[in-house]
Amino acid sequence: MGTKNIHRVVVTGAGGFIGHHLVKQLKALGYWVRGVDIKHPEYELTQSDDFIIADLREFEGCSSAVKDVDDVYNLAADMGGIGYITANHAILTRNNSLINNHMLEASRLAGVGRYLYTSSACVYPSFLQDDADVTPLREDQAVPADPEKGYGWEKLFAEQLTMYYHEECGLDTRIVRFHNIYGPLGTYEGGKEKAPAAICRKVAEADDESVIEVWGDGEQTRSFCYIDDCVEGLIRIMDSGYIQPLNLGTDEIVTVNHLVALVVATSGKELAKKHDLTKPQGVRGRNSDNTLLQDVLGWEPEVSLGDGLRITYDWIWGELARQGRANLPDPISGTNLESRKL
Ligand code: NAD
Repeated sequence: MGTKNIHRVVVTGAGGFIGHHLVKQLKALGYWVRGVDIKHPEYELTQSDDFIIADLREFEGCSSAVKDVDDVYNLAADMGGIGYITANHAILTRNNSLINNHMLEASRLAGVGRYLYTSSACVYPSFLQDDADVTPLREDQAVPADPEKGYGWEKLFAEQLTMYYHEECGLDTRIVRFHNIYGPLGTYEGGKEKAPAAICRKVAEADDESVIEVWGDGEQTRSFCYIDDCVEGLIRIMDSGYIQPLNLGTDEIVTVNHLVALVVATSGKELAKKHDLTKPQGVRGRNSDNTLLQDVLGWEPEVSLGDGLRITYDWIWGELARQGRANLPDPISGTNLESRKL
């Protein structure tokens, strides 16, 4: 994996969750890597050869990001969990459209070799996702459009713009639609965290035999993809030469209640759930159809949800334990003393 004659790569959003992991993997494969973000990674030092702090809403920031590179992985975005993206339509849409408009034009002007855009399953029409027992979503179903308000509309527009740059400017582009990526070293609090991280945090902080809050009735369905599979998929898609949008996720669909049950089982605690029906829960059902991904790559994500959640829970529990906020049992050492603050 990894094209060895292409050496210089930029990852935007390298201070964020997926970007940071991608930088690590590209370095492990021998690439020269530049990371760009408005912030440094929060939980580990970056392994990039060069890290630029830049605001990619500014054209100048995008120009310096893509200077003298062969490949662009454009991951920078203003984004978060369902609470965040449903409460910030205007600013988030503005921020992301500025980033994507400028990144494409700066990449064209710099004559970069390949340009990969990270889109989202939020581009799929809500009218296909009304049922928890949803039919997996195929790439050709994004239009006619009725995407997630704000975040999803912007992603769909940026996909289109990326394709126009391919068709009319000859940019060698890729478009990847992520389906709920999770794993260690991701945001787990503050409003920008996604469901798996939020649930791991609530479970880690909970006293044994207590109650945790779950958004919605928990019968909404999703598929979740572990970060190592995501990063491997990204590099494979870049190398594939495939221009059209591709799903990158698993097709292991579960209810949020099942997700909670898996985390609780991992924790070794006995917990009850309290459902908050006033909180946003997004579409009722969403799953990835991986037929095209399989056809193009001969590969699809492999890590099971149970395995991925164990690693994620251990990491979040360890983070909270360092801050005196985790409650036993300790999932790493297996210490099962009386439930108490560490
Ligand atoms: P993240 O929030 O951890 O990382 C995004 C990074 O972009 C952040 O570090 C942020 O500081 C940076 N950024 C935001 N505005 C910027 C600006 N103006 N200039 C420079 N940097 C800026 O999110 P992530 O989960 O790593 O997501 C990476 C990409 O994948 C995003 O495009 C996101 O929309 C997409 N995506 C992620 C998921 C998922 O499940 N994590 C799902 C669908 C799509």
